Amino acid sequence: MPVFDVAIAGGGATGLSLGAALKQALGAGALVAVIDPAPAPARESAEPPLRTVAIAEGPRRLIERIGAWEAIQPKAQPILMMDVMDGGVRDAVRLPHLHFDRRSDGEPLAHMAFNDEIVRVLSALCERLGVARLAASVAGWRPGKHVAELSLSDGSAIRARLAVAADGQRSKLRTLAEIQTIGWDYDQSGFVATIAHERDHEGRAEQHFLPAGPFAILPLPGRQSSIVWNERSAEARALPALDARDLLRELELRFTPKLGEIRLASRVEAFPFRFQIARRFVGQRLALVGDAAHLVHPLAGQGLNLGLRDVAAIAETIVGEMRLGLDPGAPAPLGSYERARRFDIAASGMGMDAMNRLFSNDVAPLRFLRDLGLRLVNRTPPLKDLLILEARGAGRGVPKLLRGLSL
Ligand SMILES: Cc1cc2nc3c(=O)[nH]c(=O)nc-3n(C[C@H](O)[C@H](O)[C@H](O)COP(=O)(O)OP(=O)(O)OC[C@H]3O[C@@H](n4cnc5c(N)ncnc54)[C@H](O)[C@@H]3O)c2cc1C
Repeated sequence: MPVFDVAIAGGGATGLSLGAALKQALGAGALVAVIDPAPAPARESAEPPLRTVAIAEGPRRLIERIGAWEAIQPKAQPILMMDVMDGGVRDAVRLPHLHFDRRSDGEPLAHMAFNDEIVRVLSALCERLGVARLAASVAGWRPGKHVAELSLSDGSAIRARLAVAADGQRSKLRTLAEIQTIGWDYDQSGFVATIAHERDHEGRAEQHFLPAGPFAILPLPGRQSSIVWNERSAEARALPALDARDLLRELELRFTPKLGEIRLASRVEAFPFRFQIARRFVGQRLALVGDAAHLVHPLAGQGLNLGLRDVAAIAETIVGEMRLGLDPGAPAPLGSYERARRFDIAASGMGMDAMNRLFSNDVAPLRFLRDLGLRLVNRTPPLKDLLILEARGAGRGVPKLLRGLSL
């Protein structure tokens, strides 16, 4: 039975970037495997990608440092400014209450990229770096004193000194390890689509807080933007039944008039939203990263960013231990990983939950107070800088990869 230093369950963006970060830092000195039943093809797929993610500065530096950004950047769109509005669907004009500009040194607020494109590039990078790819799903888990044993859906089994669950929100490995989660469903679903528009977006992102939930317009290369359109679940069920003309009319009511005439340029897909945090981020010979550890409301585009912050922290811990000839799956490094991530994850998750509750309603006194709050932040540069610093995830004291440094 092969013995790996680190076996990662899940070949999404977090699992693959961890595999690449470890192999890049440790080379032949580490045996790393990524297990996924549907490994991303290294070549472009025929189906146009749909779901986009906003990558903040810190996680972007990580992607850059492990050698994947060069291939992602040509298809990514920098966000150069962002407006936040609070209003009703039928308001003739929604004026921005809060405006953010890119930094004075030219650094954009974030970059928009297609999730599938990121996964495809990371997958090819893992192949090049010699990360073992196992096309199966994790089906069984038996942690031991020195190694853990993972049985796979194809009937085979592997052993690893450390297993990492990067297998998404319904993580099988987390369930097998009996790690409970706390969470709740939002009475909201998000519709994602690509919209083509008449005028240039000039790199502007807009977040419209509407009574049913946020409506985000996120710039893509060319005259296109990605939308994440939140609706309460009851209304969300009715939307797919609308014919193309009615759907476009509903879209026009919500979309910004600044961009001129619009047209649906993709299929529309719905994602139900849920808040979920694992009670522990580690177990015996196990660490959780990405959506397997936490699922947050996407209103501030932080899900994958949080996941890549996990990757930066666990990669630094594993590499540090292995360079000293120590055991990466021992309780001490796992404990330090959990301590490093607990506050950031809880604060971000709860912060987004609170923001969604505060804004997704039409209660007049609440609306008055939150608009006052937004305007106050807008006129207080230190408060704005603090928000930008928080969203960047790249300050001092954060793991090396998020600062663009080698491990
Ligand atoms: C509408 C929407 C908009 C979003 N916008 C943003 C944004 O702007 N910015 C941002 O940072 N985040 C955003 N997110 C969140 C982000 O997309 C996720 O946090 C991120 O994709 C999670 O990556 P992951 O690798 O942890 O999990 P996943 O992408 O879910 O990958 C999990 C992998 O595990 C594999 N797997 C499943 N079961 C097993 C098993 N038993 N064994 C082995 N492998 C298994 C799956 O095949 C899959 O490849 C958004 C999410 C949504 C829904």
